[in-house]
Parts: sequence; structure tokens; C-alpha cells
Amino acid sequence: MSLLEVDAIDVAYGNVQVLWDVSLEVEEGETVALLGANGAGKTTTLKTICGDLSPMSGEIRYKGQSIGDLPHEEVVAKGVAHVPEGREVFTESTVRENLELGAHLDRSRMQERLERIYDIFPRLEERKTQTAGTLSGGEQQMLAIGRGLMSEPDLLLLDEASLGLAPVLVDDVFEAIQRINDEGTTVLLVEQDIYNALRVADRGYVIKTGEISLSGTASELAQDKRVEESYLGA
Ligand code: ATP
Repeated sequence: MSLLEVDAIDVAYGNVQVLWDVSLEVEEGETVALLGANGAGKTTTLKTICGDLSPMSGEIRYKGQSIGDLPHEEVVAKGVAHVPEGREVFTESTVRENLELGAHLDRSRMQERLERIYDIFPRLEERKTQTAGTLSGGEQQMLAIGRGLMSEPDLLLLDEASLGLAPVLVDDVFEAIQRINDEGTTVLLVEQDIYNALRVADRGYVIKTGEISLSGTASELAQDKRVEESYLGA
């Protein structure tokens, strides 16, 4: 049994269908990349897994249990964290307060949790009393990831973690993702940055206009010209 099984889901916004028969699996301990052009349906897939949207048909199983119809909070309580696109941090709250909010369902061992995040992102410790609005874009992205990790998830869903960051920060973010995975968190990431995504991932899927068009190991996909073509063809 895989940690996460997405089984033939169809998803729509109102009556506009955007995902068709999407299936993917994530094994415990893996990093899996979901790749695809703008508008292909990557964000929608993550939102459906984390309970922001419900599939019209198909099933999503986490640790063998059906979660497709559960609301977001219940999915989080089961051990899934979602870091949405666009660094949604609370700009008026401090870095530390933002992190603590990530653990609002279970506030035990708060200091230990914070220290783990500060160990991964030392810059957040240096700025822990600063309001999040004063952080740079890259620091806000680190904060968004740190907040997701505060619930100590078994599965971390990351949406475009590197988007819009300076190259040096992109490297930092991917290094952090690698480390988070090495320390035992399973990762499903959505990326436009094919090169870096396939560098940290074990396997990947390509989604094209709402359907999975390709899948394989990261090294297979890195050599497959169709991956790049699926971006250009959008
Ligand atoms: P991007 O990289 O640009 O974020 P994506 O692969 O994540 O792209 P989605 O955001 O999942 O793509 O969008 C898939 C399709 O669903 C697009 O055609 C988009 O216009 C549409 N869509 C997304 N959100 C909504 C919404 N709230 N209402 C209606 N249509 C939507």
C-alpha cells in the first residue's frame, strides 16, 4: 500500500472540469514531482488531495483510508501538510507566531518543533521576532514551508516552492526539501522548474491539460524530451 493513492479523480470548478482521470501514487519516504505547464492542473491536484476541493469521481486514499471527501482540517490532522503557492504568510504576525500557527492542532513540544525548523532554516531563527511582512520573498517562502512542517506531517505537499526566487535562494529551498525528505518526510511537489524538481525527486508525473501524460523515475523523465515539450505545447 502506498502512503498516498490518487485513483482516477475527476475535478471541476463549478461545471468546468479541469482534471480527468488523474491517478498517481506516492510511496512512504519518496519525493515525487508533479510537473506541467501553466494551467495544466497541478495546483488543483494538490488542493484536491489536501481537502480544499472534492473530486466529482474517483478516490483519494491516505494510509489506505479514503480522504477524498474530508475537509482540509481533517486531512491535516491525519498527517498531511499543504504549502500553497504564493507564500501565504500572516504579514502582521511575527515569524515565530506564523510558525506556531502551523502547529495549532497539536501544540505539544512547541519549542522542539520550532528548533527543528530553525535548524533547517537558520535565517528564520535570526528573524523570529520580526513581522513576516518584513521578510524577503525567499524568507517568506522558507517561513511558509516551515509553518507546514510545524504540524510534523508524514506527507508534505509543496506548491511551486521556488517560484520567483533568486537562483541562490532556489538552491537553498531545494536543499531544504532534500533534507526534509532525508529526515523522513514524504514529499509531493509541484514545480515549473523541471531541472531542480527532477534533481531532488525519486519519481515524477507530467500533467498536461488535466490528464497525466507521462510518468517515470526522475532519471527517465530527465532524459525524456516529451517532458519539456509538454511545457512548450501549453
Ligand atoms: P499554474 O502553474 O499556472 O499554477 P496549474 O498547473 O497549477 O498552473 P491549476 O491552477 O490547477 O493549474 O489550473 C488548472 C485549470 O483550472 C486552469 O485552466 C485554471 O484556469 C482553472 N482554474 C483554477 N482555479 C480555478 C477556479 N477557482 N475557478 C475556475 N477555474 C479555475
